[in-house]
Amino acid sequence: MDRFFVDKNNIDLENGTCIIEGEDVKHISKVLRCKVGEKLEICDKDNSEYVCEITDISKNQVDLNIIEKKEIKRESDLKVKLYQGLPKSTKMEFILQKLTEVGVDEIILVSTKRSVVKVDDKKEGKKLERWERIIYEAAKQSKRGKIPTLRGVLSFDEALEDMKNNDMNICPYENEKTVSIKSAIREADINNIGIFIGPEGGFEEEEIQTLQNIDSKVVSLGPRILRTETASVVASSIVLYELSDLGGNI
Ligand code: SAM
Repeated sequence: MDRFFVDKNNIDLENGTCIIEGEDVKHISKVLRCKVGEKLEICDKDNSEYVCEITDISKNQVDLNIIEKKEIKRESDLKVKLYQGLPKSTKMEFILQKLTEVGVDEIILVSTKRSVVKVDDKKEGKKLERWERIIYEAAKQSKRGKIPTLRGVLSFDEALEDMKNNDMNICPYENEKTVSIKSAIREADINNIGIFIGPEGGFEEEEIQTLQNIDSKVVSLGPRILRTETASVVASSIVLYELSDLGGNI
């Protein structure tokens, strides 16, 4: 069943109805060619979802009746904030899509010393819009209970300030030879965690030092060197597996 996110103010629980507006209307009527009577899965972007039946399709709106509320927990209690050292744009779609699928809560783009891409202000807005669409589509496909937030592009110092609000921060670093991610997060009793992944060229030693100065745990992801896009997904998956619901409670 196709899934769509609907703002809460478009869901009327009292009367058991909801409406879909915006870009999804065209997708429903022209691409999926849905008809009155067909069912869709509606999520309110805040962990509630409903099976609904289409009652009317017009040019700018789809009207539905709520058939049933689905009691299913799709969101991790642990909020993972992935700080992504700005990679080449060609890698962004993969990173955003996979992080959404595994259950990351927030993706924060950070320009670090070795980031080869410098998104200039003019183009940043357009790129962020396109990247948000990728997250939205991945959230629909993976049946997320909410749409991960995309923020950025932050400077390294802005990212440090943001990280200070987290219960814990880890920074995977391929030159780390003693502390593993496994040992660093074991039995951590936290509500949220920041994970900072370097860009293709990695972190400067000085950046690692600065991250340690704000109590980030510098960790190894193992003996092999992962590409930045692989490291983001692997580190998030390890954390969500070890401390939350990935691979676990179904
Ligand atoms: N210096 C790396 C190299 O030799 O190719 C480049 C950095 S790596 C491609 C990109 C990022 O992935 C790193 O900044 C780090 O955050 C993470 N990473 C990759 N492999 C890792 C490993 N084995 N342990 C910890 N972090 C790793």
